[in-house]
Amino acid sequence: MSSSIPETMQALRVSNAGDSHYKLETIPVPNVEGSQVLLKIGAAGLCHTDLMVMDGSFGGVYPIVGSHEPAGTVVALGKDAEKNGTAKVGDRVAALLPKDPCGECSDCKLGDWKYCANVKYGGINVDGFFSEYALVEAKNCVVLPDSLSFEQAAPLTCAGITIYTAIKKAGLKPGQILAISGLGALGHLGVQMAKAMGLKVVGIDARPEPIAMTKGLNLAPDLLIDATKTEADAAKKQIADLREDGYVGWDGADVTIIAADALPAQSYAAQITRRHGHLILVAQPPQLQFDFRNFIFQDLTLSGSLHGNEVNLKETVELVDKFGIISDLSRFKIGQHEEMVDSVHREGRKGKSVLVFE
Ligand SMILES: [Zn+2]
Ligand SMILES: [Zn+2]
Repeated sequence: MSSSIPETMQALRVSNAGDSHYKLETIPVPNVEGSQVLLKIGAAGLCHTDLMVMDGSFGGVYPIVGSHEPAGTVVALGKDAEKNGTAKVGDRVAALLPKDPCGECSDCKLGDWKYCANVKYGGINVDGFFSEYALVEAKNCVVLPDSLSFEQAAPLTCAGITIYTAIKKAGLKPGQILAISGLGALGHLGVQMAKAMGLKVVGIDARPEPIAMTKGLNLAPDLLIDATKTEADAAKKQIADLREDGYVGWDGADVTIIAADALPAQSYAAQITRRHGHLILVAQPPQLQFDFRNFIFQDLTLSGSLHGNEVNLKETVELVDKFGIISDLSRFKIGQHEEMVDSVHREGRKGKSVLVFE
């Protein structure tokens, strides 16, 4: 390893399932091997999934370094890294998190390793990126444009790519109507992406802070709905007003992406979606609460959407850079990690919490 890379580093680890906070520890810098690259982390995002790692939802191995949203500089290459990717020492990259996809199953062969039964995830089943250095596979790195900061790039590797692939799955043409329910870390990025793609966009939330933040975006939605103030029927009428004159079709959004965990958001989303429309679930709520009528009489289709691959991340980075799409960030240094975790539970929270390294 090069002399500029220290032997130890600071890292935030979950010691045991059920812990409410990370422990700031000094651990060895991992050795780079095979097709891996070593990143000096510039920024790493905190995702809802990280809290599920803390509460033991994934039954993982502890202790474990948190975060699966890394962006940083490549500082060392394994001996096979050059054959397996384009990342070079000195490149600024964002990276995805799969470890050990089998390479043999149908999804691996088709490039959709996210569905591989064998795949493990950084920050979930293997050490993640809340550390000064971390390993990723060369082939899962996407080089960043100079204009994109690490702190803006990090959330794209989970929140950004997840909402981007969900919008692609919606398969809408410019002018069609996409509603996004939940204007948190994913939703407020999604609103901007969908506007950049030429869609008519409806943003829905039940919390004042995300609504105010979304209203202030350069790529703000065409219609912003506070679900605590507007009944679904009234919302559907407002959505109908977004249609071009002469539109022949059904009232309501063509597709609604559910990015909110709150249970009432589900039936609201179903009610504001047009007959024969499509609901796409990216949130991970504790349960689903739909009425059979939504599917039988309204002919809705419900699908889930999961994360994405390197191609999707590259497209996400390009779209974000081209249109100046931004995450509303709260920044924390490693010594403020308790405050960072508490920020997620705080009343009135909005946007994305990111750990930044100097
Ligand atoms: Zn995530
Ligand atoms: Zn596989």
